[in-house]
Amino acid sequence: MQTADDVGHAASPTVRRTGTHCPYCAMQCGMDIVRVDDGPASIESRDFAGRRALCQKGWTAAELLDHPERLTEPLLRDARDEPLRPATWDEALDRVAGEIRRCWERYGREGVGVFGGGGLTNEKAYALGKFARVALRTPFIDYNGRFCMSSAATAVQRAFGLDRGLPFPLEDIAATGALLLAGSNLAESLPTATGLLDDLVGNGGKLIVVDPRATATARRATVHLQLAPGTDLVLANGLLHIAVNEGLLDEEYIAERTVGFEHAAQRIGSYWPDRVERITGVSVADQRRTVHLLGEAHSAMVLTSRGPEQQAQGTDTVQGFINLALALGLPGRPRSGYGSLTGQGNGQGGREHGQKADQLPGYRRIDDPDARAHVASVWGVEADSLPGPGVSAWELLDAMGSDGGVRALLVLASNIAVSAPQATRVAERIAALDFLCVLDPFPSETALMADVVLPVSQWAEEDGTMTNLEGRVILRRAAGPPPPGVRTDLQVLSELARRLDAPAGAFPTEPREVFDELTRASAGGVADYGGMTYERLAPEGLFWPCPDPDGPDTPRVFLDRFNTDDGRARFIPVSHRRLPERPDRDFPLSLTTGRVLEHYQSGTQTRRTPQLASARPHAFIELHPVLARRHGIEEGDLVWLASRRGRAAGRARLSPDIRADTVFMPFHWSGDGCANLLTNPVLDPSSRMPGFKHCAVRVEAHEPRDPRRSTSP
Ligand code: SF4
Repeated sequence: MQTADDVGHAASPTVRRTGTHCPYCAMQCGMDIVRVDDGPASIESRDFAGRRALCQKGWTAAELLDHPERLTEPLLRDARDEPLRPATWDEALDRVAGEIRRCWERYGREGVGVFGGGGLTNEKAYALGKFARVALRTPFIDYNGRFCMSSAATAVQRAFGLDRGLPFPLEDIAATGALLLAGSNLAESLPTATGLLDDLVGNGGKLIVVDPRATATARRATVHLQLAPGTDLVLANGLLHIAVNEGLLDEEYIAERTVGFEHAAQRIGSYWPDRVERITGVSVADQRRTVHLLGEAHSAMVLTSRGPEQQAQGTDTVQGFINLALALGLPGRPRSGYGSLTGQGNGQGGREHGQKADQLPGYRRIDDPDARAHVASVWGVEADSLPGPGVSAWELLDAMGSDGGVRALLVLASNIAVSAPQATRVAERIAALDFLCVLDPFPSETALMADVVLPVSQWAEEDGTMTNLEGRVILRRAAGPPPPGVRTDLQVLSELARRLDAPAGAFPTEPREVFDELTRASAGGVADYGGMTYERLAPEGLFWPCPDPDGPDTPRVFLDRFNTDDGRARFIPVSHRRLPERPDRDFPLSLTTGRVLEHYQSGTQTRRTPQLASARPHAFIELHPVLARRHGIEEGDLVWLASRRGRAAGRARLSPDIRADTVFMPFHWSGDGCANLLTNPVLDPSSRMPGFKHCAVRVEAHEPRDPRRSTSP
């Protein structure tokens, strides 16, 4: 295992400095981890790919390394009603293997499943996919990236034949002439990317932000389109309608590089501007201004994020924005295009190497006979032995413990009790499992519900690669070994595979060895890492596809052709459908959920980081002062919201930045402050992604602020 870049011996004390990357979001900012003698680790920023910046989460990441709540020994419970107790590794691993065998005997191979995460390195995501198909021989594998990126991934696969979140490097964003940013509060979700927006505006570019809230990102915009939640597709189609009717189409591009424009244009005939204004709340003037800014700029981009994507019609909504970008002739042009902003650290790589129910490494389809034959040959097994596609993340969780569902589940890098929709349902289904095993560095809410908890290494304790939001594969290096008693995910999978009689040597534990195998498994696939090695990844990473060990990588895709049979992009006609849960008399408000700057995902790490936890200690509910007045709510009151699925509470935060018919709740907290007690698990029909971004709620109760309270969520 590699550890330190530089070890200073010139004078005491000894300084150990390791160049690596942040553990959190998909920006994967460069950082140095510095230890002086045996003192605590600290973080310094580091130049990486022309950028040098960290946000609060990055600056405080070292607090995770020596954290007092770190798990350092396996835990297990002897019976469901018994507490977790310490165990040896052999006892815990034997128990896991024994429970898996018991489930196989009772329910067959499909009785066992795994659930992964978008924070796993490429090596771990790859090994987990292989473990499911080779050691467990189950189709039931999916991951929390299904909750983040799958609608955008499905839409770009359909339109372009290749899903790389950004098909160009980040630097292109700062150089574009006009940017439409739909549903991204980038200033809080990818904080260091905010500099790109400032550069764009400083260069004379125009920024248009689509968001129901006047966020820190929207406040930077030339035009803020403050639409009603869930109406993004109406807006996208309306903008295309204006482009068609006001002569802003790039007809030469449409003729040469696309197919299907006529059908898409016919479909948007009824999206005339004043109707779009009535549905979305975006004025006709702002709609027209937006299309003219995009259509008349020397270059332009359309970027989407979770706002339009996490909807019950997320795939079609993204397609609506892609149709607009294609009509204006943007994808594949210099400093132009369409892209989706990945959220999780390895949200991109996590979906490329077999962690998704329907995929094999290299972004291959598991139902493609050629793909199965190739991957099976790398794995040394018969193609016929590989299971077929499984089900999506929510479908897997929703069926746990029931006929046709898994009875035993292994969870890695995911806190499903907090991050999945309809949290009460997830808790019920976890309780119905015969057996739950969680691998985590910390006692997450899900780990505390498990029968066996295995303490595993975290960021900076092992090498591994991540693929950031640009499709740039980077090497994240270990600053030191894990604490005594802790093993890596790769070691755990290898040990379990051995106990389950998987082929000998099939599950190496060294990340470099796993990566080399991954490159062979991905070779020839859409996400081709075949020409990459750890050596080549230093110092600035490589963009996939990179098929040739001696050839270049690909910072920009689609310059000459799209990845479709005929090389052309696809317009696909899309229509807005009625929201699955419209506000009504019983639940008159729209709830939208999202992130805050200080926290990450379900908060397992950031809620344990003192500086971040004290800066943002509680769940909150943002609501407009007019709405607050109607209910007699004041700043700081404890507000209870109710949806058709449950109740959740947070401190009132009054803000004119949100629409009066909408409330916002971040999703980083558990207990009563868990926003997913409210959210609706209705699935997009194509991507099978839940519609986190919209459900109907009401203000059910509120209690005056009392600083002596100890029960705040
Ligand atoms: Fe880490 Fe993302 Fe912040 Fe960069 S922007 S320091 S990657 S959390």
